[in-house]
Amino acid sequence: MRVVVLGGGVVGVSTAYQLQKDGHEVVVIEREESLAAETSWGNAGMIAPGHSFVWSSPAAPKTLLKSLFLKDQALRFRFSADPYLYKWSLEFLAQCTHERARRNTLLKHRLATYSQKILGEVVAEEDLRYDRNTRGILYAYRSDAAMEAGAQHMKLLESDGQVVQMLDRAGVAKVDPVLGAAPGITGAIYCPTDETGDCAKFTRGLGALVAARGGEIMTGVVIRDLQTDGGTVNGVLTNQGIVRGDAYVLAMGSFSPLLGRRVGISLPIYPVKGYALTVPIGQHKAPPTVGMVDEHNLVAITRFDDRLRITATAQFSGYDNSNKASDFTFMRSVTQALFPDGGDYEHANEWSGLRPMTPTNLPILGRARFANLFCNTGHGHIGWTMSHGSARIVADLIAGRAPAIPMQGLGYRA
Ligand SMILES: Cc1cc2nc3c(=O)[nH]c(=O)nc-3n(C[C@H](O)[C@H](O)[C@H](O)COP(=O)(O)OP(=O)(O)OC[C@H]3O[C@@H](n4cnc5c(N)ncnc54)[C@H](O)[C@@H]3O)c2cc1C
Repeated sequence: MRVVVLGGGVVGVSTAYQLQKDGHEVVVIEREESLAAETSWGNAGMIAPGHSFVWSSPAAPKTLLKSLFLKDQALRFRFSADPYLYKWSLEFLAQCTHERARRNTLLKHRLATYSQKILGEVVAEEDLRYDRNTRGILYAYRSDAAMEAGAQHMKLLESDGQVVQMLDRAGVAKVDPVLGAAPGITGAIYCPTDETGDCAKFTRGLGALVAARGGEIMTGVVIRDLQTDGGTVNGVLTNQGIVRGDAYVLAMGSFSPLLGRRVGISLPIYPVKGYALTVPIGQHKAPPTVGMVDEHNLVAITRFDDRLRITATAQFSGYDNSNKASDFTFMRSVTQALFPDGGDYEHANEWSGLRPMTPTNLPILGRARFANLFCNTGHGHIGWTMSHGSARIVADLIAGRAPAIPMQGLGYRA
């Protein structure tokens, strides 16, 4: 078949790769001049099944409420005139029961774990350089009580096979001497099988392989609409004409629902903005060597070879993806306090991007409304982690094969 993939982020490009592996002809359409130029560019780079906990948890309603009144929360929620925000928020709140949070977390963990396995296969087969670090991720705490609560929480993922080690400060120092010496850190939950790597480098490398093997990568092409005929899609209308295929994959991240609405597909995806700093390490002597999350401040810090990537904040401001210097003040100061000689903080690249969040925090995979239209979208806050498995699943569905893991919680619901 000739399959047209709409969107050239990590999800779209991974899908094109898996489809090509199955013998299909593939076309990727991306509006930016390069692949992975939007949300897949600036993420924390964590391949983190150990971070599969859903945001729609019993604690979330209180956190949302608090964020309405307090400034500088890791979560920034404001009322707006956008009716989609209210619809999405009600659906999100409905997922915040103990039972649903538990179920959604386990489904997400299953997909994340499967996805890491598929990533491993891709990396074993291809020569991809993306600053991969397989030394795990440290989820760091600033008090014994907070770590004990974190450990209780982690039992859910442990019961599902996640490898977890509880480390005191000395134990942290054995994994990363720099974090072990950082002020304020009392211990960490260590997930040694989690890993990190630069998602944009990976995506661009994979896209180059797809192109070298005959795939068509159309960058700088804006998708405007879908041409449909009864129960099938028969073309993608772009600013450069119509692109046709036998099947189509919707992988436009936060922008998928906007296109979906044009053809009667309602996708419960809302953009949640996050911020990232990319700090050159230069001649600095003490950058961290392993990815970490400061669980108290909700700041994630990853080492990509010669750079640090620092990410934080979940902000509801619709499709406004702007940022200003003050958005980065807190995350910069947290990192600088932890790793004063970690990098050139004054010359950091400042970036923001939109996480395509669903209320369940699970992506939407598979056929939607039309016989030949498949979704692979809504990967939220750990889309780099879940992208490889999602791509394999969608390729299997297009081939008419049963995916390797159950589709529970992942399909499109009209
Ligand atoms: C601050 C932050 C930190 C994160 N940290 C992590 C992490 O550590 N680990 C992890 O697993 N995940 C993380 N994520 C989440 C992850 O980055 C996303 O889930 C993932 O990048 C989504 O990929 P995507 O391909 O679906 O979307 P995108 O990367 O947004 O790709 C969609 C593509 O569609 C294109 N597009 C949209 N509309 C059109 C149109 N009309 N015409 C043509 N093209 C179009 C866009 O240009 C874009 O390139 C983080 C996200 C943020 C914001």
